[in-house]
Amino acid sequence: MATISGKCLCGGISYESDNEPMFTANCHCSDCRAATGAAYSTLSFFKSDDVKISGETKSYQHVADSGSQMIKRFCPNCGSQLFGENSAREGMISVRAGTIDQVEMVKPARNVYCGSKIPSTPLDPELPASEKMPEA
Ligand SMILES: [Zn+2]
Ligand SMILES: [Zn+2]
Repeated sequence: MATISGKCLCGGISYESDNEPMFTANCHCSDCRAATGAAYSTLSFFKSDDVKISGETKSYQHVADSGSQMIKRFCPNCGSQLFGENSAREGMISVRAGTIDQVEMVKPARNVYCGSKIPSTPLDPELPASEKMPEA
């Protein structure tokens, strides 16, 4: 049994990883908000090689305000967003944490891009928060 598994709403796309995510963050940037339709996005980052994907995703490419090429992968049937790749983070894949089956393993370590959050979104005061993406 894989440590982590997940799927889209219709189940057409699924994935597994034997390793836990390297880190997880809540992202309040306007791209994540528009892409997910949610107030913010919780992203868990894995090594690309660790995540085995079943099913054919569709993708959308855009340029982030950092200048990075971003690829977002989603289910062509139900539209769930599952994965993201960033040209500045070679070899890493982000997984939209809402799709992870093992909910106890979704432990955001910080809030990022709080400068563009929806004002009413509450932040956990226990977690570090940054205006944009922290340097380290
Ligand atoms: Zn689906
Ligand atoms: Zn974001």
